Amino acid sequence: MGSYGDSTRSVKAVDSEPVPGSPVAPTPVPAAAYHLPPDEDDSLDVYGRMSNPTWRQLESAIAQLEGAAAALVFGSGMAAITAALRVVTKPGQTLVVPADGYYQVRTYAREFLAPRGVTVVEARCADMCDAARDADVVLAETPSNPGLDVVDLHQLAMTCRSRRTTLLVDNTTATPLGQQPLSLGADLVVASATKALAGHHDVLAGYVAGSHPEMLARVQRERLLAGPILGPFEAWLILRSLGTFGLRFGQQCQNAAAVALMLRSHPAVKSVRYPGLPEDPSYDIASRQMRRFGGIVSVELAGADVVHDLVGNSALLVGSTSFGGIHSSVDRRARWGDPVPDGFARISLGIEDTDDLLGDIGQALDIAGR
Ligand SMILES: *Cc1c(COP(=O)(O)O)cnc(C)c1O
Repeated sequence: MGSYGDSTRSVKAVDSEPVPGSPVAPTPVPAAAYHLPPDEDDSLDVYGRMSNPTWRQLESAIAQLEGAAAALVFGSGMAAITAALRVVTKPGQTLVVPADGYYQVRTYAREFLAPRGVTVVEARCADMCDAARDADVVLAETPSNPGLDVVDLHQLAMTCRSRRTTLLVDNTTATPLGQQPLSLGADLVVASATKALAGHHDVLAGYVAGSHPEMLARVQRERLLAGPILGPFEAWLILRSLGTFGLRFGQQCQNAAAVALMLRSHPAVKSVRYPGLPEDPSYDIASRQMRRFGGIVSVELAGADVVHDLVGNSALLVGSTSFGGIHSSVDRRARWGDPVPDGFARISLGIEDTDDLLGDIGQALDIAGR
């Protein structure tokens, strides 16, 4: 896989060995196999909460892209993240979660892990390494959603390793084609596959990937007993989508870089964050640890009404709270309580033609900024 480009890697990742007698295409499997194997059989496929061939093919593809020994799929990103957190935290331990990352992660930690005796500390991207010095478990998110700040993963992993601290990295915004946290020293990758990985705004999913067999076995056991599973049909949809992941993500990154450059010099824009802009505060670290800078740009406009006018006057931007799909979309994050200004918008670039987006967003901003 090493020498191939991203699109070849995406296509190869969903390949399967032909097995005589197996279905010609990955198909949904029923909740429980219709004919149980003989008593002695140790097949995983006796009940839909344990495993099924469609999951395993998707898990193998995700593991290949993440550079992991194995991956486990879940019914959503939050299902994956919370399962991993339940496995790696114990009462009496200190857990660091992002203060400026995806808000539901710190909300879960506060509402459900803290009452069970876990000390929950919130740290911003810039303070992650400092906070890790007194932690047993660290969950970092980089680039952060929605601010697109970047954590130096190599430095954080070194800090964690010297203290035997477990390091989890949320790889949702970067995607495995943007960065491979495991190769930089993370113990587990957690992610939402709902965004660019599935990429069509039509399915929720998540995964945990890693290379420690005992840790993964515990996560698998947690999934079996707690049951936050991905439907096999959704798994099949994502497999279908994954073959074009390299093409889609390549176009999204190209669009994001071009739009970030255009926004930077537009008078209606107060500030722009994109890790691929050379003047961005995260550019140096991002250039070292990321292969691509991603498909999201964050921007601050004068106020909520300017964001509304931007969407209202654009033919290509839709207002939508998810991101990473084939359509370009905008989300005004203050609406959801993120600690950002009223005019802060997260723009997710789709796979439209770059020039069309530049023209459309440029004219919409001209009107909105008036
Ligand atoms: C969306 C998102 C999640 C949660 O994923 P779901 O699939 O919506 O449960 C977690 N982390 C980040 C960074 C996200 O953007």
